[in-house]
Amino acid sequence: MSSFPLVLSAPSGGGKTTVTKLLMQRRSDLGYSVSCTTRAPRATERDGVDYHFVTDDQFMAHRERGEFAEWAVVHGKFYGTLKAEVAKVLAGGKNVIMDIDVQGAAQFAQAWPAAVLIFMLPPSVEVLLARLEERKTEDGATLLTRLRSAHAELQVVTRYHYVLVNDDLETTVSRVSSIIDAEGVKRERISALDSQLAGLIGKLDSEISRHTKS
Ligand code: ADP
Ligand code: 5GP
Repeated sequence: MSSFPLVLSAPSGGGKTTVTKLLMQRRSDLGYSVSCTTRAPRATERDGVDYHFVTDDQFMAHRERGEFAEWAVVHGKFYGTLKAEVAKVLAGGKNVIMDIDVQGAAQFAQAWPAAVLIFMLPPSVEVLLARLEERKTEDGATLLTRLRSAHAELQVVTRYHYVLVNDDLETTVSRVSSIIDAEGVKRERISALDSQLAGLIGKLDSEISRHTKS
């Protein structure tokens, strides 16, 4: 099977980080693409694990060298996926999961048509707000920016292949997992299908002739 990129988008607080981390713990066929960002790390975040936290100058240097598969300004900060991160995971035979915004998802899908795009909706605006407030990572101004972004993001959900509501966490994780399983057995992703079929057909030919003679 040829491995593929999986893009997971949702409004801020929609559960991308939570769902991605659980999938990474449960599926050995998944690798994570660590993005670059110019935003400051949160208390629990580690450089090189959650993000590559870079300066504006470092981000521009990556951009000028053409090292991003996609990049965007999200909530006023730069975010980008390094081509090398995606290539490293795929070269290891794993599917690569990316937590990227709607602008980046559109760029990435154009450059990489085999990518699978999933959008997670919140059960309601009230639940989204409650989850963001509970996470305690946003002050009033950044919360407002994130709500404005969410408003814009919901306008382009039709670009995605799959849309699901992140209500119960376990149900969401198992649904995304099912999508990965189904995408993995798509005919066009089965790399050695022709030789596999030729082998089976050849064997059937010999069995048919053996049974015809007896
Ligand atoms: P994102 O990465 O999309 O910004 P997070 O994964 O940080 O969102 O989730 C935002 C908050 O909502 C976190 O505190 C997380 O624990 C919580 N959360 C995410 N999904 C669910 C869910 N299905 N049920 C309850 N809480 C959730
Ligand atoms: P956060 O700052 O909450 O981690 O992420 C904010 C937004 O940036 C989310 O919508 C997330 O999906 C998006 N994001 C994270 N990494 C990337 C990336 O590499 N590229 C793009 N385009 N968006 C990203």
